[in-house]
Amino acid sequence: MQIKPSCCAEKPVISLTAGEKLCKNHFIQYFESKVFKTIRQFELLEKEENIGVAVSGGKDSLTVLSILKKLSVENPKIKISAIAIDEGIAGYRDKSLETAKEFCEKNDVALHVFSYKEEFGLTLDEMLKILNVKPCSICGVFRRYLLNKKSRELKFTKLVTGHNLDDECQSIVMNQFRNDMAASARLGPRAGLIDDKLFIPRIKPLYLCTEKEVTTYAFINKLLDNFNECPNAVHSHRAQVRDMLNDFEQKNSGTKYSIVNSFLETLPSLREKYKNAVIKVCSRCHEPSSNDVCSACNYVEKLRLSVRV
Ligand code: SF4
Repeated sequence: MQIKPSCCAEKPVISLTAGEKLCKNHFIQYFESKVFKTIRQFELLEKEENIGVAVSGGKDSLTVLSILKKLSVENPKIKISAIAIDEGIAGYRDKSLETAKEFCEKNDVALHVFSYKEEFGLTLDEMLKILNVKPCSICGVFRRYLLNKKSRELKFTKLVTGHNLDDECQSIVMNQFRNDMAASARLGPRAGLIDDKLFIPRIKPLYLCTEKEVTTYAFINKLLDNFNECPNAVHSHRAQVRDMLNDFEQKNSGTKYSIVNSFLETLPSLREKYKNAVIKVCSRCHEPSSNDVCSACNYVEKLRLSVRV
């Protein structure tokens, strides 16, 4: 087996997928230039933007916020704010939101927080006691709904998310397993299929960064001091796919890059195929929807009826 050299005499902090070992300073340089290259390669930002970064207080969102904050200091025409959703998951989201608030205060970033309790009347924990549904299904619907609606009200030109290469890889494989290629057509570093003023464009600057790289960057830059996972995540389909892909990656290094790179080759034809998807306006809340009533309003109605019974 060929032993890959380290970058310099300093102690390495990471071994990359290709085997190269990097010290702290070389890794930070490598990681940040990879993110900026992704932004250029996929034309994620214009010269002038009013960006909202979706923050959860986890490693991915704090990493992308920290790098974009540096970019905005160098380019005053790129304005940055943060937006967070408090789902109401006791013992988890309260702690991660504290981390997000501390980071934003320290780095002079405006933070806008919206909660399920205020917007829908119940926390996620309360909703899950009423409805027998998969936590991530209902949580994902309400979060996407609020992020898009509030980003539009805040007049963000783009919504940045902290999705990394591992997240994207899992989504691609999950959609294959469900035979849902229309959902895959909405993936990619510039997510979404339809340009419509009701939708705020979503971009993923960490698209080509592995979870291991993001975790390393977050910890060596002291963006957070512990790793906290949502208690509902363990039951999700995504967690099963994640474990399977991690196992594959461990035995066949580079598997995740191969999945995402081959997906990027097929993405233009997928988008072409699904480009005529019709977007309606929900008859109740007037937010974008693929049906007459959107998924969020359907869940709100189910909760209302269940509480009444
Ligand atoms: Fe919501 Fe599921 Fe994410 Fe937890 S893991 S925050 S329940 S989507």
